[in-house]
Amino acid sequence: MSILLHDATVVTMDGRRPVLKGQDLLIRGGAIIGFGERVKTGRLAIDERIDCFGKIVVPGLVNTHSHLMEILQRSFRDNVRKEVWLRHRQMTEDQAQLSAEEIGAAAALACAEMLKNGVTAVVDHFSIRTGITAAKMQAILMAFEETGIRGVLAPSLRDQNFLELIGLGPSDRKTPKEGAGNLLRDEVMPVLEHVRESSKISSLMLGPSSPQNCSDSLLREVVHMAEQYDLGIHTHLLETVIERWGARRLYRKGMVERMKMLGLLSPRLSAAHCVWLDEREMDLIASSGASVIHNPASNLKLGSGIAPVIELKKRGVNVALGTDGGDTSDSYSIFEQMRLAAFLSRLTAENSDQWVTALDALRMGTINGAEAIPAWRGKIGKIKTGYRADLVILNPHIRLHPLNDVIHQLVYCEGGHSVDTVLVDGKVVVRNGRLTCVDEETLIKKIAPISEKMYRIYSLNKKRVDRSDSFIQGLYRKARGENSGQGRLQ
Ligand SMILES: [Zn+2]
Repeated sequence: MSILLHDATVVTMDGRRPVLKGQDLLIRGGAIIGFGERVKTGRLAIDERIDCFGKIVVPGLVNTHSHLMEILQRSFRDNVRKEVWLRHRQMTEDQAQLSAEEIGAAAALACAEMLKNGVTAVVDHFSIRTGITAAKMQAILMAFEETGIRGVLAPSLRDQNFLELIGLGPSDRKTPKEGAGNLLRDEVMPVLEHVRESSKISSLMLGPSSPQNCSDSLLREVVHMAEQYDLGIHTHLLETVIERWGARRLYRKGMVERMKMLGLLSPRLSAAHCVWLDEREMDLIASSGASVIHNPASNLKLGSGIAPVIELKKRGVNVALGTDGGDTSDSYSIFEQMRLAAFLSRLTAENSDQWVTALDALRMGTINGAEAIPAWRGKIGKIKTGYRADLVILNPHIRLHPLNDVIHQLVYCEGGHSVDTVLVDGKVVVRNGRLTCVDEETLIKKIAPISEKMYRIYSLNKKRVDRSDSFIQGLYRKARGENSGQGRLQ
């Protein structure tokens, strides 16, 4: 299959010429094989020619941290802290007892939403209280394949509860204790083998939920398996001030030093949030080559704080973007995260030269996301000969007019309204703004009753969970007090 995109304005994000006009892009076998003002096609039969005059071609956006199944609990909650929010989410999941089919349907709807908004690659950090099984993981992988999105599944692993360890939380019967290693070997590895044999666009990585909720032995096993099978590692890290405060109680030198000791810090690692890193921890991450995934909308909605993006960038850390889940941000839009990343940086540095620019934000939403994930590194995130053809063709919506500066306006004006055509691995998955592989109405209809059932469960349990709110608020006050002078906006 060969496709020619003709006469496009192409966003390369390169050096002095980040935007090129009147460009052709030739795609064959899922890759970009020609790129320039007039690409010679020779004897190659062109199966499809897309006229791109007046249109803008950008690399597909990359969502490097999300929880797809959370779309079922979309916008259930408002002003709650992360710890209270998590209790709500868990209690609702406990009682909903979702089947693999329901999980797959939810993931498909989230993928469909992303594709329609120009996101072509996603990491799903998958957790479910009733337990991860091979069938549930396969359902999510099937959602990637059916919708046509490039997906990495990172099954969440944990075997301890850090609040319980520091004597502040009730014993959690759902924490699998010694079982996480078995899950890794018995459920995750067979799925990995299957994916490697059968898919070009899906892959797996290992997803310890967060280091404070994993024992040393589990984290060592994760590192060992990642090295043995050449996999990436994905985790949450120091999202709230309570986590930093708790980490200091459990591990004398803090969480990041412990991760270094266990071999977790390396270019394989992508760590989501990182709101509460201190200077030394930022240095450790920088020297390790690990990436940080900034989730600005989620951190704002849950009041967690602002990640030190400027400080990380100064140290040369690769910072990418994530949406987090459907009830913490509450959309799966990377356009939204790019704008927030640029705007929020202005609250964290006096010197305007250091702020995140529109070009910086666009890189965070594309190439930096690709560089953060070993399976994608050097393959996607850029429009370049030899790269996979994950592309978004924008037909400028009224929000982009007058079109004065393409890159500024992609970040400050665009919201996904201009997305016209989307290609993943050279395959058209959105055409004229409509999904080509799945039926949007069918997906929505399938999800509505499942979500309604979960909302009923949530409403019945709401008061019970809300009672823990004052305890958590107290913990925040305590943690902030002990971190005074070090914390950022919270
Ligand atoms: Zn998350």
